[in-house]
Amino acid sequence: MSFSSDVKGELCRQPMQKKCCQAAELYGILLYCNTFSKDEVRLVTESRPFAQRAEKLFQRAFSWGFDRADGLEADSGKVTLRILDPAKLEAIFDRFGYERGGVLAHHVNLSLLEQDCCRAAFMRGAFLAGGSVTDPRKHYHLELCTSHYNVSNEVVSLLYEMGFAPGRSRRGGSYVCYFKQSETVEDLLTTLGARLSAMEMMNAKVEKDMRNAVNRKVNCDTANVEKTVNAAQVQLDAIRRLEAAGGLEALGDKLCQAARLRLEYPEASLAELAALATPPLTKSGLSHRLRKLCEIAGEVDSR
Ligand SMILES: [Zn+2]
Repeated sequence: MSFSSDVKGELCRQPMQKKCCQAAELYGILLYCNTFSKDEVRLVTESRPFAQRAEKLFQRAFSWGFDRADGLEADSGKVTLRILDPAKLEAIFDRFGYERGGVLAHHVNLSLLEQDCCRAAFMRGAFLAGGSVTDPRKHYHLELCTSHYNVSNEVVSLLYEMGFAPGRSRRGGSYVCYFKQSETVEDLLTTLGARLSAMEMMNAKVEKDMRNAVNRKVNCDTANVEKTVNAAQVQLDAIRRLEAAGGLEALGDKLCQAARLRLEYPEASLAELAALATPPLTKSGLSHRLRKLCEIAGEVDSR
């Protein structure tokens, strides 16, 4: 099951309460389903809970349902629901304020969406019929897709009024508005009524952020270890050359002690090495001595 179908499943478990919201949700479905024309209403979905909810919404609003339901008996795959009866189509057009046989360019009839509750229900219907959301473990993307140009424009305005700022694009003959920010997608899912999915998304984000932070830390630690090892290698080379050139004692107590310490603990970091000295040295004190050793080795080489 995809995240999208889980979200739709959760939305379909929302109780149908007020009449006004039931009509608004059905209206969202009509404007975002596959076909809503004077000849046909056609809704294609893989979500069985949604197919059942759509049928129930028609039953409640009109006391009748779809004329045909293909694929509903199968456990998976697409379900195609159709209304073809001219009398039913007439009733739908009347109910939502359209003239049947009039202009086919649908607009959003805002008089049906004056209440906040109805707007949320309308968006839920639109999402169920024409929306999808990507698994938040991959990336963040929620979109609504309709074939009606004006509807897309007006829904974008409506979303702005509800506090959401979608991006927009065209795909084939469809108009898409989308969201790519995790917080916005979470808020929208919550508004539509999918609280659990919004929570799941929040958790996925926390996990992802944590994984990234751990990776950054590991990379950083690895880089530091490499730096320490490289520096120690340079020091060891220098000390061995000095040993070969005449012994370490000739360098004096302080430098000799630092050189022996490095030889004894070739992989220790500067801080570790400083603590191992007797008496302990400061990091900068030891660093100074090791640098000096490298300098002298350089002078010996160039002689
Ligand atoms: Zn309402």
